[in-house]
Amino acid sequence: MPTGSDTDHVAIIGAGFAGLCMAIQLTKAGIPFTVYEKADDIGGVWRDNTYPGAGCDVPSALYSYSFATNPRWSRAFPLQAEILDYLRGCVDRHRLRPHIRFGTEITGARYDQGVWRLSSADGTEFTARVLVAAVGQLNRPKWPALPGMADFAGTAFHSARWRHDHDVAGETVAVVGTGPSAAQFIPHLAASARKLYVFQRSANWVLPKWDYRYGRGHRLLFRSVVGRLALRGLWFCFGDFVLYAAVRGQRLGRVVDWLCKRQLRIQIADPALRARLTPDFPAGCKRILISDDYFPALARDNVEVITSPIAAVTPDGLVTEDGTGFGVDTIVYGTGFTATEFLAPMEIIGRTGRRLRADAWADGASAYLGMTVPEFPNLFLLYGPNTNLGNNSVVVMIEAQVRYVLACIRQGGTVEVSPAVFARYQQALATDLHDTVWEAGCTSWYKTSDGRVTNNWPRRVLSYRDRTRRPVARDFLLGQQER
Ligand code: NAP
Repeated sequence: MPTGSDTDHVAIIGAGFAGLCMAIQLTKAGIPFTVYEKADDIGGVWRDNTYPGAGCDVPSALYSYSFATNPRWSRAFPLQAEILDYLRGCVDRHRLRPHIRFGTEITGARYDQGVWRLSSADGTEFTARVLVAAVGQLNRPKWPALPGMADFAGTAFHSARWRHDHDVAGETVAVVGTGPSAAQFIPHLAASARKLYVFQRSANWVLPKWDYRYGRGHRLLFRSVVGRLALRGLWFCFGDFVLYAAVRGQRLGRVVDWLCKRQLRIQIADPALRARLTPDFPAGCKRILISDDYFPALARDNVEVITSPIAAVTPDGLVTEDGTGFGVDTIVYGTGFTATEFLAPMEIIGRTGRRLRADAWADGASAYLGMTVPEFPNLFLLYGPNTNLGNNSVVVMIEAQVRYVLACIRQGGTVEVSPAVFARYQQALATDLHDTVWEAGCTSWYKTSDGRVTNNWPRRVLSYRDRTRRPVARDFLLGQQER
């Protein structure tokens, strides 16, 4: 077990897709590191989200590290359990477990005379020369602020903390929220509950998934790395050209609109329900759902879609603003994550005493290429601000970041982005974001409450990979700010 007292270490916070990728590359480079993980297992969101039907709506072929493509995916879109298995396999193959300090929650970090001093929930302090925060964007469940929630007498839980000990068979169940998580578990609840009320605040665009189990032909193709990389390349291009066009409101993106409208028309026969399920914002403004069984579930006789806003939760159910009451046994909150609160609840204090979240990010999180912030030397963020995607695999972004961070670490000394370079980057980012559909009239976890898009990368993934190919010396104040 690492002691954490070795200041030559790189400290990585989080053992999800990003933290593990960093750990693997540091192992390969022979650079010592410790991963601090607050839970007792690896996997991040794929450990936490175990709701029925949990899976990824990025194709399997694209949802792995490029240096560890997986020949064993069972289907076109992977399920949660096999993604977790895949990550565990990577951990074992690279012998990462001895480097991971499980059950250690880092609560904050302070830069002090060339080292990062990390504090943990149990009071232990660790030091490291380089700090890599890999805590993700979707790790803290968001609960709605509805009056009366605490007084509900039945069972209530969040989709990311699924109560597997609670069987909803024969019950009346309410689902609050209709995002990508809810779209995956609603078909399962609909099949076992006696009655299901789905409380929809906004309708969603839904693309067909066309999911299927891989057969012999696929398994043969995937035996070779070339076969795996070829399919990966095809999906990558579909995301970086067709889906990207939708995000930027370009003509090619209309195929996405057309596919979504066709899906709705084919799967929902009732015109009144179809009207309720038709979004009033452009496709891509919030994450497009990808599902074959969501609409059919909503069309079942035992399912009702409620669009009147929820006014309150009562001891025995919910009441909507039009005064209707819904008695239920169980409420499932599929209300997402506090995605714009990057790194919360940790507070990170830089070399000048400024706090990252409270001071530097008072108007919303931002980092140069999503990774570095002025006055926070040798701090690197993975899957940080403006590096999420609505159109491609985030794993590709993470790999680009890890390559970049590794090159910075190899440089030695302190690496801190220049304020002028950062300011120019922020300006260009704001211009790029302005042309996307995310700023159109919808709410989403991509933006802060005042409408600033802090989560998504507005250009092609190819362009991000190009920008992060290697650190450019003139972007940094190299070793000039030791204090
Ligand atoms: P989400 O996209 O943030 O959706 C939350 C849902 O809850 C929305 O429908 C939202 O309505 C609703 N909601 C929030 N507060 C509410 C309130 N007070 N009253 C009524 N409704 C309320 O969360 P998520 O579904 O958990 O998904 C989050 C992200 O996780 C996804 O975008 C995706 O990136 C990731 N994810 C990925 C996969 C995958 O397959 N790769 C699967 C699941 C999740 P509004 O739309 O009106 O805000």
